[in-house]
Amino acid sequence: MSDCLFCKIVSNEIPSKKVYEDDRILAFYDINPAAPVHILVIPKEHIESLAALQDEHLGLIGYLHGKIRDIARDLKLADGYRVVNNCGKEGGQEVGHLHFHLLGGRKMLWPPG
Ligand code: AMP
Ligand code: ZN
Repeated sequence: MSDCLFCKIVSNEIPSKKVYEDDRILAFYDINPAAPVHILVIPKEHIESLAALQDEHLGLIGYLHGKIRDIARDLKLADGYRVVNNCGKEGGQEVGHLHFHLLGGRKMLWPPG
């Protein structure tokens, strides 16, 4: 998707501070952190949102969550962390490329707003 912000981050057209990358996924620091650790983990394939996910993507999404676990472990978030997906307008999604927020380094509040 030529006009997608996160596709441009995948292609290095827009710079990012990368945490992890392989042929399927990319993890990079959020530009406007909401916690001491705030990382976005995305599939490299352009998938609009969780609602747009196809059954063929389920393996990829499981793989991505395994990497979130690994990143959290590497960053020593032993006391816990939060993984968030904002889906669609009412879910608060601003960037139309599926992404999971990994938030840590402080006590999270519940319920979210
Ligand atoms: P969401 O509201 O779930 O769509 O989250 C989008 C996230 O992308 C927000 O937390 C933004 O701070 C973050 N973001 C926007 N532009 C960039 C960028 N160029 N690099 C890193 N993170 C970004
Ligand atoms: Zn995209």
